[in-house]
This record gives sequence, structure tokens and C-alpha cells, in this order.
Amino acid sequence: MKLQLLPSTFDPEGRASPEQRLSCYVIDDRVAIDAGSLGLAATDRQRDTVRDIIISHTHIDHVASLPIFIDDLFATLTEPVRIHATEEIIELLERDVFNWRVYPRFADLSNVRTRVMEYVPFRVGEPFGVAHLSVTAVPVNHVVPTVGMIVSDGRTTIAYGADTAETELFWQLVNSAPRLDALIIEASFPNSMGELAQVSKHLTPRSVGTELKKLEHESPDIFAVHLKPAYRDTLIAELDALGITRLQVMEPGREYKW
Ligand SMILES: [Zn+2]
Ligand SMILES: [Zn+2]
Repeated sequence: MKLQLLPSTFDPEGRASPEQRLSCYVIDDRVAIDAGSLGLAATDRQRDTVRDIIISHTHIDHVASLPIFIDDLFATLTEPVRIHATEEIIELLERDVFNWRVYPRFADLSNVRTRVMEYVPFRVGEPFGVAHLSVTAVPVNHVVPTVGMIVSDGRTTIAYGADTAETELFWQLVNSAPRLDALIIEASFPNSMGELAQVSKHLTPRSVGTELKKLEHESPDIFAVHLKPAYRDTLIAELDALGITRLQVMEPGREYKW
């Protein structure tokens, strides 16, 4: 399995900037989890091959360029871009994004060959297929309806916690998987901003440390993501101080393989 956090921005030489402002994780150039930077940073190849997108929640950093991604492909699609989400999240996308005011209702539109976008609802707690992957999602603890998930290609399994504060169901799901190769966990605010993290339902490095105590798998790669750029240096130092050997900050643009 190949996993890439798409960059949010690029430096003048075209290199991916380390700061993460948007969330989009592409698996095997085929499936995207969230679409924050998808329409801006997908490679030409990914633009040709990503046709399934799983949405964890509707916050703008997770869906910002989803309409742009589909708009760019509008004339050339030969199959719809499939949006996998809970019914609740699909309703929010229809009401707040694809509502003809913020952007056209792509689920109602076709080019000469195909409908350009299609919703594929899933139910939490029940495995579902997405391209070559099997996915199970459960609610996590965020200020809007949000799911975390485990994703497997039959050989490699990764877990994505999305945006969340302290949570239990997600860890039960992760621990129930027969194996775990990688875990993606958010660390949004530094320890000194614990109160803000609490009200906005995010984690600090301290609460990442507490959450990781719930992980029963022996030695997955652990990636911290969603570090607010303004506090990035402090967050990296506080994550380092946890002394968890396999914990690293995920680098935008880098391809991780298992
Ligand atoms: Zn969020
Ligand atoms: Zn977010």
C-alpha cells in the first residue's frame, strides 16, 4: 500500500511545504480520504485515477478543493467520482457545499458520458468496499459529525482518526483489526492550548500520549498530522518529548509504502 498526504502548498521551487493546512490522504493513487488539497495538489496521474473519495467530515480543511477536483474533470470523466460518506455527512455536503450557491449540485449533473459525481453512503461500524480497499468507519469525538476509519487492502491495514478529541470507539475498532501497519493521529494544538483543543474537539501532544495508551498493536508506524502551522515548532517539540519511538510527523508529498 502506498500512502501520501497531499501538500497544502508548494515553495517557489515547486517543493511541497512542510506545513499542513488541508487534509487529503491518497492511497495507491486511487482512493482519497478527505479532499482538502485534492483539487490543488493531485498529480496528473492521481487526477486520472482517483475516482473514490471517503469524506470524514465537512470542515473546510477536509473538503475545500473537492468541488474544484470534480470541476476540473467535468468534461473528461467516463465514470462518476464517487463520494463515500455517512448519510448525515452527505446531507451536509448537499446543504452546505453542492447547493447551487457555494457550488453546483454535481450529483445532478452529467457530461456526455456519465454523471460526474455520485454519493455512496456507508453505515458506521459496517465494513464497505472502496475500489480495492475494505473500510470500516466509526464516529469519533469532534464538533461536527465525523468518522475515523480503518482501511485495508488485504495485506496492509492503516487507521485514520480524522479530527477528534479523546475517543473510545475508534480505538476499539483499531484494536479489533488483526494487524495494524500505520496509524494517523491528529495533534492540532500545543499543550498550552488544551482548553481550546477541548472546546474545538482536537488533541494536543499530551492527549495524543494519553490516547496512544489505548492502542494495543505492537509496532505500527504512527504519524502525527493536522499540526496547526502557527504552532508547528512547539508541537514537534512536544510530540518528540513523548518519547514514542515510532511517532513521526507526516511529511506532505512523501510517499509512504508498506
Ligand atoms: Zn474538523
Ligand atoms: Zn481538520
